Amino acid sequence: MAQTAATLEKLVALCKRRGFVFQAADIYGGLNGVYDSGPLGTLMKENIKSAWKQSLLRHLDKDILFIDGALLGTESMWKASGHLENFHDPLVECKACNARFRADDIDLNGNCSRCGKKDWSEVREFHLMFKTQLGASVEQSSTAYLRPETAQSIFVNFKNVLSSNRVKIPFGIAQIGKSFRNEVTPKQFLFRMREFEQMEIEWFCTEEEALSAFAFWREERKNFYTALGVTNEKVHLRDHTQEELSHYSSATCDVEYEFPFGFKELEGIAYRGNYDLTQHSTCSGKDLSVFDEKKAASFMPHVVECSVGVDRLFLTLLFDAYAEEETESGPRVVLKLHPTIAPIKAAFLPLVDKLSEPLLQAYRKLRACGHSVQFDSSGSIGKRYRRHDEIGTPFCFTYDYDSEKDNTVTVRYRDSMKQERIAIDAIESFIKNTSPFLDKLC
Ligand code: ATP
Repeated sequence: MAQTAATLEKLVALCKRRGFVFQAADIYGGLNGVYDSGPLGTLMKENIKSAWKQSLLRHLDKDILFIDGALLGTESMWKASGHLENFHDPLVECKACNARFRADDIDLNGNCSRCGKKDWSEVREFHLMFKTQLGASVEQSSTAYLRPETAQSIFVNFKNVLSSNRVKIPFGIAQIGKSFRNEVTPKQFLFRMREFEQMEIEWFCTEEEALSAFAFWREERKNFYTALGVTNEKVHLRDHTQEELSHYSSATCDVEYEFPFGFKELEGIAYRGNYDLTQHSTCSGKDLSVFDEKKAASFMPHVVECSVGVDRLFLTLLFDAYAEEETESGPRVVLKLHPTIAPIKAAFLPLVDKLSEPLLQAYRKLRACGHSVQFDSSGSIGKRYRRHDEIGTPFCFTYDYDSEKDNTVTVRYRDSMKQERIAIDAIESFIKNTSPFLDKLC
């Protein structure tokens, strides 16, 4: 079976054709760097988020609490975090056609990729945060910003969480939520967007524990991707060099995935010292330190952060799963998604319409239990298999003329296309047993 690698163009087309992702405000010409999730994309993103949550919660020896912070933050908060001063990218403009680029993305000795001329402006810093005004007031105090990362709402809530829950250092606060960055050049579809979702955990610990916590999360986060079936050779850890490290970080590592445009960051893992809590303590005037009973002294907890974009992971999983294959019955496009991630877990396909009823009953039973399954009785069985291959449905159950005699169905496996017969009553337990994600991590 010959396989063809995915290209960005093929994935964008598949996402639109099958309802995974649409350009935002498509009918009005679209909004650059902003996307809507379609029905299948919404299901798949939910599966990604619950797999991530599950991967954190499975550690019985680790307390991890979840919050859901506000998208808007005060100017003072973003000043304390350093974003107001530092969150910018170098911008350069082509003076001939006014196209704008990230200066570190292009060769300034070369010509403009848009108009072919070479007439660059000075490089200047472009601030990436979206600023807005709350209410009708124009006073400085009503200025607010959409958050460019979810992490800061964790830091500013650190004491609230600690004092309202029975947890002690070390423990983690995790969050899934939207972030906004006014990227100079959003590109590569879901890779660099202006509105996107992040999944972040801040692990609070003592300074003595920090480096071993960093080593733990570094391995743990890579294992998450391989447990989800991402090709081992395409995912690796890359430690930052001394020059790359932020002034407050003594160790940072990226989980990188090999996209068609090269190895790129999928997730960042950073030992941030106690920079954030110290900053917020100083700037807010509220003491965020913790009392150590053994030492009878207060200390500012240190932090290891793991941060991944839901949409960037979504794109990674699509790239990794996409294959074009020659089969005995012609070519097919298939998404070999892990069953945990696949938007539709199984399809129920009677061979012909008049054989629908027994399969419909089995389908309804699963739907009633909340399983994401589909029933489809129209069109040739071959076309229905192809459609489900293309959206990554791991199993198709078919009721045929033999089924009438022995109460069995065929189960067709998406990846091997092999078929076998199982009892119609065994469908439910078959589906329940095909979410091996947790097993692989344990
Ligand atoms: P990059 O260097 O790719 O811009 P970054 O170092 O600025 O990333 P972080 O601030 O560390 O990114 O954000 C953590 C994670 O959030 C990234 O690893 C990525 O998965 C995701 N992410 C960041 N910016 C974007 C974006 N513009 N669009 C989609 N996902 C993003």
